[in-house]
Amino acid sequence: MREAVAWYCARCGAIVHSEELPTGIPQEGYWNAVRTFNADLSACTCGGCGEVHPPADLGDIAWPEVVAALRAE
Ligand SMILES: [Zn+2]
Repeated sequence: MREAVAWYCARCGAIVHSEELPTGIPQEGYWNAVRTFNADLSACTCGGCGEVHPPADLGDIAWPEVVAALRAE
């Protein structure tokens, strides 16, 4: 089973954008997916109601550092 990430519309509940994560380091795939989502207005606009999803939250995790640490193992 592949990892996937999805964002849902806060207004109507439809899936705004989903992306399958490539095999490999999930954190790296998630980081790339979030950056793509935040940079692409069409990706974060709901197809159902037109609501624009706020930028996805990366939280306090320093994802590139996490990926680098995982790679080093
Ligand atoms: Zn919607």
